[in-house]
Amino acid sequence: MEKRIKQKEDETFGFNLWRICRGCVPTCVKLVQRQVLCTNLCQWCGMEAETDWHAFIGCTIAKESWSSAGLSELLLSRKHHFNTLQDLVFDICSRESAEAAGRVAVLLWQVWSARNDVVWNDTRKTLLAIGGLALNGW
Ligand SMILES: [Zn+2]
Repeated sequence: MEKRIKQKEDETFGFNLWRICRGCVPTCVKLVQRQVLCTNLCQWCGMEAETDWHAFIGCTIAKESWSSAGLSELLLSRKHHFNTLQDLVFDICSRESAEAAGRVAVLLWQVWSARNDVVWNDTRKTLLAIGGLALNGW
């Protein structure tokens, strides 16, 4: 049973990474581009357009989540060298250890999951809840 749960988690994290690397995370900006009637503003802060970069890197909640997961070093050393989330994630996956890349995959999944909880369930997770699994569970 635990093996099956672990496999399901790996598939979920992998699917999220696949969506990021293919540029097909359904952010509000992408939904508006596809004629969906909704705001293009970030679902967390409501201050900037919700691009994939903003949702996973630029938003205050995303930055703090990287920090609470103990992964801000990986982000800060790359943030100004890449223009797209895809390139940044690809660089982490190709240059860092499998453990570090796995923790980043978990964090990205948690950030997106927490964002979806705001949209669909009107609940906001704490930073510790967002970054905790990436910090402890990988
Ligand atoms: Zn935001």
